[in-house]
Amino acid sequence: MSTGIRAEAEDFGRTVAAVLDDRWGDATAAPHGDLAGLWRTAAEQGWFELASERALDFLVAAVRELGARACPLPLVDAYVAGLLLDADRGAQVASGQLRPIVAVVDDPDTDTADHCEAAPQATHLLLVHPAGGRVRLAPISRTEPTPGLAVPAWSRVRAGATETEVAADPAAVADALAVWTLGLAVRALAAAERGHELAVAHATTREQFGRVIGGFGAVQQRVAACHIEMAAANALVGDAVGHGLAGSGEWPLAAALAVRHIGDTATSVMFGAQHTLGAIGFFEEHEAAWLFRRVHADVVRLHAHARHAVRISRALVEQGRSLPSFHLGEAAERFRAEVRALLAEHRLVDEHGREGHDQEGLRAAMAERGLFSLGWPQEAGGRQAGVAEQAVLNEEMKYARGPVDRAMSATMLLGHSILRHGTPEQQAEFLPLIRRGQLRFCLGYSEPEAGSDLASLRTRAVRDGDHWVINGQKSWTTRAHTASHVWLAVRTDPDAVPRHAGITIFLVPMDTPGITVQQYTALSGEVSCTVFYDDVRVPDSMRVGEVNGGWRVITDALAAERVVMGGVAATLLRQLDDLLEHLRTDPERLLGADGSAKRDRLESLAARLQAARALVLEATRAMAGGGASDLAAPMAGVLGGELAEDFGQGVLELLGPEAALGAQVPGVPGGGGFERALRTSPMFVIGGGTNDIQRAIIARGLGLPREERAARKKER
Ligand SMILES: Cc1cc2nc3c(=O)[nH]c(=O)nc-3n(C[C@H](O)[C@H](O)[C@H](O)COP(=O)(O)OP(=O)(O)OC[C@H]3O[C@@H](n4cnc5c(N)ncnc54)[C@H](O)[C@@H]3O)c2cc1C
Repeated sequence: MSTGIRAEAEDFGRTVAAVLDDRWGDATAAPHGDLAGLWRTAAEQGWFELASERALDFLVAAVRELGARACPLPLVDAYVAGLLLDADRGAQVASGQLRPIVAVVDDPDTDTADHCEAAPQATHLLLVHPAGGRVRLAPISRTEPTPGLAVPAWSRVRAGATETEVAADPAAVADALAVWTLGLAVRALAAAERGHELAVAHATTREQFGRVIGGFGAVQQRVAACHIEMAAANALVGDAVGHGLAGSGEWPLAAALAVRHIGDTATSVMFGAQHTLGAIGFFEEHEAAWLFRRVHADVVRLHAHARHAVRISRALVEQGRSLPSFHLGEAAERFRAEVRALLAEHRLVDEHGREGHDQEGLRAAMAERGLFSLGWPQEAGGRQAGVAEQAVLNEEMKYARGPVDRAMSATMLLGHSILRHGTPEQQAEFLPLIRRGQLRFCLGYSEPEAGSDLASLRTRAVRDGDHWVINGQKSWTTRAHTASHVWLAVRTDPDAVPRHAGITIFLVPMDTPGITVQQYTALSGEVSCTVFYDDVRVPDSMRVGEVNGGWRVITDALAAERVVMGGVAATLLRQLDDLLEHLRTDPERLLGADGSAKRDRLESLAARLQAARALVLEATRAMAGGGASDLAAPMAGVLGGELAEDFGQGVLELLGPEAALGAQVPGVPGGGGFERALRTSPMFVIGGGTNDIQRAIIARGLGLPREERAARKKER
């Protein structure tokens, strides 16, 4: 469950679920469910008292259960009424005697509201006029059903004479509306998530062409993509709720970001679920048909009310706000301050005002403080810091545009593996180098015929006494031309079954005779190399780990890398902040008025970035708690990679050709970083395991079968 929700709230959610199962049923109850009876039961059970305790997480937990059952009980409306009305009225709401529904109106004097839910069972309209901060409570005098997509149908509602008018503080109205829109969004999200759950279950049981359909790549990719959207949206809701409960000043913006992201994604997840379910989900006997109506009806209302919510672009641009922060705990945040101070000490600004760092000074200072051996045990010269601190270090370094990237990668990719698998001699030689940030390594995994399918690698090492003779070719070896060593994966058993059981790792000096490096410039401008190994003779002492045990060494290195998957999100946060800095110079010219297409694009990107950050936080917390198998890490990686591409493209859409100019051009927006970021972005989707492969892994984590297992089933 998401981070902002307390365990007691989850218990409450379970209680609500049990009552709903009993009194409402599943989503197929939408057209005939007894909403009036449920309203009475809910009042008896105290569901409408949550506002008095400001139990936002309890509200969210309960609304999730309503959404999953396509039930429009206006629990959120009652909560909002409790926030805005006096204690006596609040008590009437709690008892179910006064049953209000909220209508957000443009005209402060109107007596009519459209698209209202649960009006036949309600007694009052709470008319909220956000612009003027006016709140009126009036009895419902007439209800006219307006059937369509929403089931039960929306209504046009006429209010009688105002019973109570509240002179509400605009901040209180804004707060209440933030809760209201978040509630609506959570309900849509929960309905989509239920659709997704049904789709996952279907994908693991339905057979076509003699296979379980979850074994088809297309189904795996879609299911995993939907799962990522759901997980990110939930993480974002958890974050918003956390801010709300803490009474943080960042709560309205955090809520607006969550609402925006759900508005952008819930409907596509629901479509995805329908696609996986096929015809079965298209008929009214199935929950999906009713969930579909619920998701789309809620989301269209969300969009309609967006103009009343916090304007994300105004907050970020005109008001100079940043995306709401995340906290990894006291110790980690203290450590963050230490890292920031260190970076500030070594910051440089060139004659064009471009920021950079004194890389050598920074490296030396980091080495002195043990930052390149942060997570290592003390006996290996490390600081024995936890996952949260390691994530913080990586985030801060990426945010600072990676001034010591290579040294950081050596720690992450090689350090942990050498600690675990290296001989005492290897540890004595390499760990001090890594600790000082001075190991210039490159990674020799990929080959012309072995990319995603790394286990098929062919570069051969043959034993010759105390030595090995290596022959083969490695592709896309980044920075091989300046490396002192290559971390090389080779085949030592050509007949091994499975193939990955015949691979061994060596750590080889690049100046060993027989190694030839051919340089290529990547789209990003970085140099990657093809490296030829011709009768390269290396001593057995360069082997890391067991003969034929290289896969273990590789996967350990990759697991260590996952600790720092937050890197993409931190890199993108820096890009967003650079973009905002530029937009603030002339917002009206660069973005246009409220509601413009450019502001909309900016808001969508910001919400997606916040979602990626929330997922990273969840993954970090899961790993810190020992839950290393959690899917949050690969999900954060996939989302971050795709966002990197979209972000790179989005910045150019917002700023136009100016943003396509390079760093050589004086005065270019973002110092020329935007076009480079766009050119770099596909790397986040391809390098280190493509997003397709990651999605297949996520699908398997959800219980979908491997493609070949599904195929074997057919053969039987
Ligand atoms: C900038 C950059 C730097 C790199 N640096 C290094 C480095 O330093 N050292 C190194 O060893 N390697 C490096 N690589 C290589 C990287 O690891 C590979 O690009 C990556 O593993 C994918 O392999 P491939 O490019 O051969 O693509 P392929 O594996 O050929 O994939 C091509 C397409 O097919 C899809 N595909 C393949 N198999 C499946 C499947 N089972 N299911 C679904 N879709 C599938 C992929 O998702 C992709 O869309 C780098 C790559 C880049 C882009």
